Amino acid sequence: MKKQKRVVADAAIPAFWQPFPGPSGPPVTIRDVKIIQTAPDGIRLVIVKIETSEPGLHGVGCATFTQRPEVVVTAIEHFLKPFVIGRDVHDIEDIFQTAYLSSYWRSGPVLHNALSGIDMALWDIKGKLAGMPVYQLFGGKARKAAPVYVHASGSDFAEVEEQARSFIEQGFRYIRCQVAVPGSSTYGVNPKKGGMRAAYHLDPKQDPWDPDAYVRVVPKLFDHLRAALGEEIELLHDIHERIPPIQAIGLAKRLEEFRLFFLEDPFAPEDNGYFRILRQQTSIPIAMGELYVNQQEYVPLVSERLIDFMRVHISDIGGLSMARKLAAYCEFFGVRTAWHGPGDASPVAHSANLQLDLSCSNFGIQESNLFPEKTQEVFPGCPEIRDGMMWSNERPGLGIDIDEKKAAKYPYPDHVLNGAWPPVRLPDGTVQRP
Ligand code: MG
Repeated sequence: MKKQKRVVADAAIPAFWQPFPGPSGPPVTIRDVKIIQTAPDGIRLVIVKIETSEPGLHGVGCATFTQRPEVVVTAIEHFLKPFVIGRDVHDIEDIFQTAYLSSYWRSGPVLHNALSGIDMALWDIKGKLAGMPVYQLFGGKARKAAPVYVHASGSDFAEVEEQARSFIEQGFRYIRCQVAVPGSSTYGVNPKKGGMRAAYHLDPKQDPWDPDAYVRVVPKLFDHLRAALGEEIELLHDIHERIPPIQAIGLAKRLEEFRLFFLEDPFAPEDNGYFRILRQQTSIPIAMGELYVNQQEYVPLVSERLIDFMRVHISDIGGLSMARKLAAYCEFFGVRTAWHGPGDASPVAHSANLQLDLSCSNFGIQESNLFPEKTQEVFPGCPEIRDGMMWSNERPGLGIDIDEKKAAKYPYPDHVLNGAWPPVRLPDGTVQRP
């Protein structure tokens, strides 16, 4: 084949079209991959730090699967680290795809979290090389900051109302409300206030979980809160996949009149088929997804317009590369983002969430975690929450780092079962989804 003749000399190309130094210059390579395990807030976090051939240039990513952190560490240490060392840091997409395929059997929370640690750290590095926050690489700001929702809970309606009011006074407008069901081990409520307690054995003395009592109480809670707090405040609720699907449909219909911003996780991922049935019966907005790991779990729900808010935990689907594709896909179907963001998403994960929150036109809401001081010390550059919103600090990359010396002061706490989620049981002892 004849070689194409170059008709325009490079020197004739205007300066603004000349390639930037970096991708076309000498490669910047991955020199080392470090894994930092820390728990400043008592929650076991896994952070990946990629060091590069450029002195001082590094990136951080979140690989936190708090219930099984050691298996993620093994996946990175033994498989991904040797796979990526020496690679050019610029090639995020190729590194992601080759690493993803290299295990042959793929997907799942362990491998995806391991990949996410590498992937987020590479986006952090790319932002630093470009001298701009990562959201700029995603298209720039679509909003000034990301509105967040916070969690109010209590042992009774009055306590939930009181906590909601204190959040409203602090400037929050979106509040998730959960109340203890008397005598029941209830999700989302502090154990000291009658909430979730573990039932490790088939012991009749331990608090069971009673789905019937729960579905009787929740509509009364929102009747109370709407009357007390008025129409201006946005209320949210999380079923947490805890009740039989048909009861979730009944509850969704009863809650419709209280105009929730969204109702979360009505079904378990295993019961995805129920979304089609639910959608025909109520217009209550549905949020779903923190337990999803595989595209086949969430893509049909979007394309069939069965949910309103996509709530995946982005390290569980593989990191920022996958999440930005998912966000763009959701936009075409009118599905808004509401990335999972409790305390078991590290501050690095929150910073990654924020890059998408700021740049996606189909942003819905961001779940927030009010970072304790100790956590902020370990993670300099923690996103700031004020006026009910999460703000970027405008530093290049993800805008966050980890102080390894301070992180080392907070080793993992012991867990009773060496796996963090406590068993929940029906009154007859049958174990339930958490
Ligand atoms: Mg949830």
